[in-house]
Amino acid sequence: MALTILIHGARGRMGHAVAAAAKELGVAVGAAVDLGDDLPAALAGCDVAIDFSSHAATRSLLENAVAAGKPVVLGTTGHPAAEKQALIALARKVPCVWAGNFSVGVNLLFALTRRASAVLGPDYDAEVVEMHHRFKQDAPSGTAARLLEIILEERKLDAAAVRHGRHGITGQRQSSEVGMHTLRGGDVVGDHTVMFAALGERLELTHKASDRQIFARGALRAAQWVVAQPPGVYDMQDVLGLK
Ligand code: NAD
Repeated sequence: MALTILIHGARGRMGHAVAAAAKELGVAVGAAVDLGDDLPAALAGCDVAIDFSSHAATRSLLENAVAAGKPVVLGTTGHPAAEKQALIALARKVPCVWAGNFSVGVNLLFALTRRASAVLGPDYDAEVVEMHHRFKQDAPSGTAARLLEIILEERKLDAAAVRHGRHGITGQRQSSEVGMHTLRGGDVVGDHTVMFAALGERLELTHKASDRQIFARGALRAAQWVVAQPPGVYDMQDVLGLK
């Protein structure tokens, strides 16, 4: 089906990447919206909105999409936990793919992390490390947060188990801890490693993104998929059939 997309956050790094991927894949860009533009008018002429903007813009984008009855592909990260449930409730009113990472490789990393957490068990200390470019606004990344969530789910732990860095912590590591470490610098598109370390061996699962086109192509794939779905919140595992 020929698709006409709206790009929300069009003047940003990902906005440009989505425009380039759309050109490459022959998808029409009906509107390119950024701060100050008229979103409701732009939505009217498009089949689906693809959002890579700011977490502060998500509520307004969803309210407008619900009012217009348009599907949404949401890639923006950094939403405060307290706001997320209300945003998900709003997103459920339209077909919505919400993913912290649209790369196929990272979505496989999610599945592998779940499997490794289950097989290796609590004797294998789990640590998540991520690195992104110096301009990134939120930390840790949405992808690292999802990797952490998967480990916590598999090990039946809650947020109290998480150690963000270990500044000022004394005493030895507890097996119930899960570490989370953020690096920032240069032009790194996105690196994620999940480490499982025991006495005598260590397993590291690493994904490195070198071109943000992978996220843009994944978002377009999600857009093609979501326009044929009933209202509800889906993720990239649904789009890729990994569930
Ligand atoms: P960026 O700062 O380069 O671009 C963001 C753009 O959004 C800017 O042009 C800004 O003016 C615009 N914007 C801000 N508020 C807006 C509003 N209210 N209405 C319309 N436009 C608005 O950022 P980026 O690197 O393109 O990343 C954007 C978001 O996408 C971030 O949250 C980032 O973490 C996320 N991201 C997600 C994935 C993924 O696969 N899910 C991949 C890369 C980046």
